Amino acid sequence: MGGPEVERLIALLSRLPGLGPRSARRAALRLLQAPEARMLPLASALEEAARAVRPCGQCGNLDSRDPCAICADPRRDRSLICVVEGVAELWALERAGVHRGRYHVLGGTLSALDGVGPDDLNLAPLLARIAEGEVHEVILALGATVEGASTAHWLAERLAPSGVRLTRLAQGVPIGGALDVLDEGTLATALRARRPVG
Ligand SMILES: [Zn+2]
Repeated sequence: MGGPEVERLIALLSRLPGLGPRSARRAALRLLQAPEARMLPLASALEEAARAVRPCGQCGNLDSRDPCAICADPRRDRSLICVVEGVAELWALERAGVHRGRYHVLGGTLSALDGVGPDDLNLAPLLARIAEGEVHEVILALGATVEGASTAHWLAERLAPSGVRLTRLAQGVPIGGALDVLDEGTLATALRARRPVG
């Protein structure tokens, strides 16, 4: 129904997180019923974002500026870095509005099952930032999954020689909970009540 253009649109939309085939059909229909008002603005927003947005060279956040708005913000505490698994977790912590330092996106967690080893994670830029001497505390905000915990343990061992203060989120992050699905209040509490590693 609707021809190959519509089929392709539905197929592409159904690959987005949270959209199965049924939601993708509904979204496609909403767009197709208002091409000028809904569809073309979306198409140009997608194209502009695809051209402009890149990972920040310092922290790995996604932004159209490099360094990103967070890294470039002079009001941010440069002595404090919060390490997160991905950009989703960074954005979740920003929504919680409680972290006044900067971030480092690790780009995943160690997982033997998924074949993710230490060399696959974005560690070198973090070590370089710490070596510059400005960083006094690194918060390991890696979520309470098995992979998150083992990654935090590995990272703590790698960062220990630097002498930087290492902390982790307080309890209150549910076991197996990924950070980006937590509500802002829970995240804010977990960050404020962070505790030393080890
Ligand atoms: Zn950045």
